[in-house]
Amino acid sequence: MAVYSYSRLETFEQCRLKFKYKYIDKIIPEIPKSIEAHLGGSVHKTLEWLYSQLIEKKIPSIDEVIMHYSEKWAEENMSKMLIVNKFAKEKDYFDKGVKFLIDYYFKHRPFKSNTIAVEKKIEINLDEAGDKKLVGFIDRLVHNVEKNEMEIHDYKTANTFPRKEDLEKNRQLALYSIAIKEEFGREKDISLIWHFLAYNEEVCIKKTDKQLEDLKKEVIELIDKIEATKTFPPNIQKLCDWCEYKNICEGWNSQKKNFS
Ligand code: SF4
Repeated sequence: MAVYSYSRLETFEQCRLKFKYKYIDKIIPEIPKSIEAHLGGSVHKTLEWLYSQLIEKKIPSIDEVIMHYSEKWAEENMSKMLIVNKFAKEKDYFDKGVKFLIDYYFKHRPFKSNTIAVEKKIEINLDEAGDKKLVGFIDRLVHNVEKNEMEIHDYKTANTFPRKEDLEKNRQLALYSIAIKEEFGREKDISLIWHFLAYNEEVCIKKTDKQLEDLKKEVIELIDKIEATKTFPPNIQKLCDWCEYKNICEGWNSQKKNFS
């Protein structure tokens, strides 16, 4: 049985060579993480902790939230972190996370939303035979009792604020909503909510059942394509700067030679 994650599908579409390094050859990169990924991870873990406290009816103070974030930040060896922007320092990224959390905390306090799970694991059987499965984690799941709907919340720590049309095409939360419908009832309305922490703004989108069915078919086709793929060429692009495999990537290295 093929088990896929959203990031596995996304990596294939972004660069086939990276997909091969990561998922077929299973190469552990020398530089494990970019500082942006570390910032994202530390903020996510802090919000996960904040809401797990809230589920237990405790409201942590902002100082406790920032303390938790500092501890998560310090868990990684910073000397091995990839910092692409030569003008930025580790502290700039750390401070960014502090600002995200302070802005978020005071916007949402006293946290009335009815969060029922954080980092909720989901599994979707994409086909009838159960041969193709997708697994993932929802940052936060809310049961909005007033509206009688479920909300899938996702946090973004990048500096970009995508257009609503681009979010309409985003597959990740829409796929997760298939699993939530299976668990909580197909008739349940579901809101997909992205929190863009750099802007302290949210975007909410809903999908129809027809759109979700079409999405399932699209993902099955993509998995079939991945499984039939025999060649894995590099795809040189802006994101290569952040790629953890660029040191070993023949495409990236030959491009560098051409420009030097
Ligand atoms: S450096 Fe660029 S081309 Fe090479 S594997 Fe990474 S994303 Fe692909």
